[in-house]
Amino acid sequence: MLAYRHAFHAGNHADVLKHVVLMLVLRYMNQKDKPYRLVDTHAGAGGYSLEGRYAQKKGEFEQGIGRLWSRDDLPPAIADYVERVRSFNPEGALEQYPGSPAFAHMLLREKDQLRLFELHPTDHRILEAYLGHAKGVEVKNADGFDGLKGMLPPPSRRGVVLMDPSYEGHGDYARVVATLRDALQRFAEGVYVVWYPQVQKVEAAQLPKRLEGVAPKGWLHARLTVQQPDSQGFGLAGSGVFVINPPYTLHDELLALLPWLVDVLGQYDQASYLLEQRPA
Ligand code: SAM
Repeated sequence: MLAYRHAFHAGNHADVLKHVVLMLVLRYMNQKDKPYRLVDTHAGAGGYSLEGRYAQKKGEFEQGIGRLWSRDDLPPAIADYVERVRSFNPEGALEQYPGSPAFAHMLLREKDQLRLFELHPTDHRILEAYLGHAKGVEVKNADGFDGLKGMLPPPSRRGVVLMDPSYEGHGDYARVVATLRDALQRFAEGVYVVWYPQVQKVEAAQLPKRLEGVAPKGWLHARLTVQQPDSQGFGLAGSGVFVINPPYTLHDELLALLPWLVDVLGQYDQASYLLEQRPA
């Protein structure tokens, strides 16, 4: 049933956008001393070999982190992100790529809580071995959409949710909206970061508008388009991140970064970005 394996895609342009946004959100959360809880509803394995057969088969990372790795002109937020990937590669060469749980674990403070859901048995086993015993971390082999209910509101009433499904079937789009609607009733002040693919599907195109509809106050929507879909309409043209209750700093930070990312990650002349928001 679960055919999706993130190892094929680790470190691609979509991971760059998602993990840069996640880091900006967590850096903002860290400015206040009060602890918070981060729930990653679709955590993946936590880390991926870029030399393994999965990553090599498609080489997607070469068009993502691979394009940033050796540059010496990185904007500060991208340099911060690449530095975290470097710390995951102690030998110096780009061989491993950290998943969202690894970025989170690197940024969270001792008093913060990390809750990770991963349904695929293999990825869950790898994640459990990597972070299962870390302080403040709980790893669950369970459905992250269903499991989110029990995680909200966090005890400190500060929290971030990363929702990064594989959108394998059509069901994930509707579940994202329904799960967020419920989550916002439990914890309206939370910061919710939703990643989605830019593919030729009605559900994908409609998702940002549907998310606007459930956001009680402010939201931000960032999209990075790097390539043309193939002639059949397949392929990942780009991806988007929709943030409910974004840090007020996020819009201007992304405004400074997205044009640079278009230049560096764009694979055709019409590569572009979109950045829109409704302030709280
Ligand atoms: N968030 C990860 C990162 O940035 O490194 C990548 C996650 S990947 C896009 C989606 C993951 O969700 C896959 O590992 C898949 O096995 C898992 N998955 C699929 N359906 C799930 C569900 N209902 N609950 C929890 N995990 C699920």
